[in-house]
Amino acid sequence: MGKSIAIDGPAGAGKSTIAKLVAKELGFIYVDTGAMYRAMALYLIRQGIDRNDTLQIEKACEDADISISYENGRQVVLLFGENVNDYLRTEEVGNMASMSSVNPKVREKLVALQQKLAAQKDVVMDGRDIGTVVLPDSRCKIYLTASSQVRAQRRYDELAEKGEKADISKIEADIIERDHRDMTREHSPLKQAEDAVLIDSSELTIEEVKNAILAEAKKRL
Ligand code: C5P
Repeated sequence: MGKSIAIDGPAGAGKSTIAKLVAKELGFIYVDTGAMYRAMALYLIRQGIDRNDTLQIEKACEDADISISYENGRQVVLLFGENVNDYLRTEEVGNMASMSSVNPKVREKLVALQQKLAAQKDVVMDGRDIGTVVLPDSRCKIYLTASSQVRAQRRYDELAEKGEKADISKIEADIIERDHRDMTREHSPLKQAEDAVLIDSSELTIEEVKNAILAEAKKRL
């Protein structure tokens, strides 16, 4: 096992933005596990599978060929060898990922891939179950959260920047629904690991969160 920083938390807490910066600073690789669940979801959507059809999801999961490569330090998710990064960040794929990730077969397959990556390299890995399930022995675990209003506002600003129109109350409702599903599912629910440090980013700048995590890494790794 290499060194690792495990970052968990709800949607829109800033995990990926911060994890990328921390990884760059430490010379670790950044592993975005949400992108893997999203790639699986994209495959299910492309196959026309209903998000409630457990049997079809499990069958498709067995067939799905998902792998990871790195280009200029950036994680690339390959679905049957195709770089699908550009298709992963839509609401449709996010909602399908949130539904299909409750399935233990989906989780088993992707957790194995994540553990393999962490065995080979020093990683900053973010997701929902990294500190609790994927890397339980990680010495540096962070639980990053923020209020649902702040997280909805950030998502709204992100969309506005891309010139996309959005309804902020709908975004917040979606976030609350997704958190609820992630936190109450039977397998690997989102929760703070006992030995994780809690950081609430609602009132913090990106720089402040990054520095708080780097300080923890310095103490613990
Ligand atoms: O973080 P992101 O929004 O990309 O994740 C998409 C969905 O994938 C989450 O809503 C969650 O249901 C699922 N996920 C998960 N475990 C992880 C990472 C993501 O269940 N480690």
